[in-house]
Parts: sequence; C-alpha cells; structure tokens
Amino acid sequence: MTSARRYSASPIKETPMEKNLVIVTGGARGIGRAIAEKLVQEGYAVAITYTSSSTRADEVVSRLQGEGGRIRAFQADVTNPAQIAKLFDDAISALGPLHGLVNNAGITGTQAPIADQTPEDLNKLIATNITGSLIAAGEAARRLSTEAGALGGVIINISSVAARLGGLSGLVAYATTKGAIETFTKGFANEVARNGIRVNAVAPGLTDTEMVPAEAAQAAEKYVPMGRMGEPSEIAEAVAFLLSDKASYITGTTLTVSGGR
Ligand code: NDP
Repeated sequence: MTSARRYSASPIKETPMEKNLVIVTGGARGIGRAIAEKLVQEGYAVAITYTSSSTRADEVVSRLQGEGGRIRAFQADVTNPAQIAKLFDDAISALGPLHGLVNNAGITGTQAPIADQTPEDLNKLIATNITGSLIAAGEAARRLSTEAGALGGVIINISSVAARLGGLSGLVAYATTKGAIETFTKGFANEVARNGIRVNAVAPGLTDTEMVPAEAAQAAEKYVPMGRMGEPSEIAEAVAFLLSDKASYITGTTLTVSGGR
C-alpha cells in the first residue's frame, strides 16, 4: 500500500484550503502577477520572482500577505541556472512542499525582422523563453517525482498564440520560442507522466500587460473575434484550472485563451 496521494472525483464542493507551493517565475507584474493573486486566493502558497528591482514584487507580497496570503518573493533570473536552483531551494524551505511551477517569465526580445537580429538578441531570447523554462521544469520535476501512479505535481508553461500564427512582423523569433515551448510541453509531459507529473501549456492571445504596445487595443478590436484584449486574470483562471485536481487527467496539451484568435 503506497502512502502517495491519488486523486479521485469527489461530489463535495471544493472549499479554499491550504495548498502546497506553486512557484511562478516573473510573478511581480502582468500575467504572472494575476496568476499569483489567483493562486493565493485559492489557498496555495506562492513564490514569485523578480530579476533586478524588488519594488513591485514587495508591493504584491505585502498586499497579499495583508489579506492572509502565503506568498514570498525571490530574486531569480531564469537565464542563470544557479539562481533557478537556489529559487527552488529557498522557496521550498520558506513555504513548504512543492505542488507546481508556472514558467511565466518571458520577453519578446528585439522586435525586428530576423535578418536584422543579432546573435546576441536571439541568444538572450532563447535563453529566457526556452532554456530558462526547460531548466526550471527540470528543477521542478526532480522535486515532484513520486512513485508510479501517484500525482506528484503540475508544470504549466506560458506559451502564446504566436506559436501557431508564426508571429507578426518583428515577432518571428519570439513566436519560434513559443513554438518550442509547446513542443517541449508535449514531450516533457510524456517523459514525466509516469513520475506523477502533469505538464501543460496555456497560450494567451493579446493580453493587456506592459509587454504589448499601446496600439494593441485597436489591433485587438480588429483582429480578435471577441473584439478585445484579454485581461491577465482571464489567463490566470486557465492556469489555476490546469494546476488543480479538476485537470487530473489532462497532460501534454495547450489551452488557448485568446478570445477566439
Ligand atoms: P510582462 O512584460 O508584463 O512581464 C514579464 C515578466 O517576465 C516580468 O515579471 C519579468 O520580471 C519576467 N522576466 C523577464 N525576463 C526574465 C528573466 N530573465 N528572469 C526572470 N524573469 C524574467 O509580460 P506579460 O505578463 O505580458 O508576459 C508573461 C508571459 O506571457 C510571457 O511568457 C509572455 O511571452 C506570455 N504572453 C504574453 C502575452 C501578452 O499579450 N501580454 C501574449 C502571449 C503570451 P521582472 O519584473 O523582474 O522584469
């Protein structure tokens, strides 16, 4: 008889109760912040990260702690493997056992035609959006693996609809990194399924954050079937679902949250 927990359908309505730790890379602003807020509301312990300035992360942490949330901020640059490993160690020692990872940190990189990109631009984009996510996922998997059959945890990768649209002019390299993330999601899900780990991606469409330019709202009116940009909180709902037991048989898939785009 294994002591590892197994999920089973329950008719009892879920009430917010204390849940294990989820690490959200880049959780001090934009989509990552909305994810952190949603997860704290749902009772998870949450670790967010910041790269250089802690000002925004501190604001998020003190606000949510003030509301009774279990949340801490840690400095970690996802392009630095030693900092990623330290993030996991520090977050687990401060906030308890790990339930999941949200690979949210990302950049668009230099927005220019491929022919005008420098190798340095491309390497930074790949290091942040691809390598950083893969290394963090590996760190998470090492800590989440359980005996065969038990559910040990969940990894969510934030992709983009750009992965399948190819990226508008200037965003081809960015879209390429997100395509890689969706391939990684499928492959890694296969690799760790028997270790009790589910791996899924969420692919937002245009979402109202600092990442998108001011004119994005007009573009959304024109090109998004629902006629508007998404709110970060709408992306967070999808992430929370995939992290939860409600998604216990979902792995290796990408959930698009894009207003129909
Ligand atoms: P923001 O620019 O608002 O936030 C980006 C976040 O990533 C910040 O928290 C930033 O941390 C973090 N980050 C950037 N580089 C690093 C790094 N090297 N190490 C650690 N953290 C880093 O973007 P969004 O919230 O819009 O984007 C979040 C995710 O959603 C990204 O992966 C993005 O590609 C994806 N996405 C966004 C869409 C949109 O329309 N907004 C559409 C589709 C996908 P810091 O605060 O320290 O700078």
